[in-house]
Amino acid sequence: MLGCPCAWCVLGFIGIICLPLSTDPVWVSCNVGVFVCLVCSGVHRIPSIGRVKSTQLDYVEHDLIEFMRSHGNLRAKDEYEACVPPFYYRPTEKDCMVLKEQWIRAKYERKEFTGEKDCVYSVEYKEGFLWKKGRDNGQFQKRLFVYSENEGVLKYYTGDKRSGPKGKFPIQTLNAMFQGGNIEHQHGLEVTCVQDARTRSIYVYHDDGQVLRFLD
Ligand SMILES: [Zn+2]
Repeated sequence: MLGCPCAWCVLGFIGIICLPLSTDPVWVSCNVGVFVCLVCSGVHRIPSIGRVKSTQLDYVEHDLIEFMRSHGNLRAKDEYEACVPPFYYRPTEKDCMVLKEQWIRAKYERKEFTGEKDCVYSVEYKEGFLWKKGRDNGQFQKRLFVYSENEGVLKYYTGDKRSGPKGKFPIQTLNAMFQGGNIEHQHGLEVTCVQDARTRSIYVYHDDGQVLRFLD
């Protein structure tokens, strides 16, 4: 396991302090109380999640050691992954950074799986703007997207709502993948659906990785 430290933080295996230090730097997320690898530490230092310290480069004060003793990855896993929906994809150390960031944000920033708030996956209606790649010219344009469970569709508009949606995707066959296909954007998403027995893909992104949550 020392060879793939990301598995510790992504999956939350290690629950103790005094890790044998591998050649990879081991970082501590001070607010959550978990050990993370260098890659994941970049997400854990987002202010809304907390701050990080290197166990090799930084002075680790006694209080933090005690905090880590009473928390740790195993306890964090119990708390922050109490009710992960069975269909939610858990990234592994081999997955891309975007996928890991979304997982870490969902777990620690939005606390989606602690069971304390209503499941965000039961969202019935949502609308917002995403940048969508044009089918013909490949240029990204800002489009209004509406997700409606009542209608059973995800639809988008190129102009005024009153003139009707430009595209509709049945929710039942909807699938979304981060960084799928050829989107050269950090928070890019490939959305596919099956329509008339054919698979259709659209490519979207948003500047804020959080916003794409509802399509995940
Ligand atoms: Zn990691």
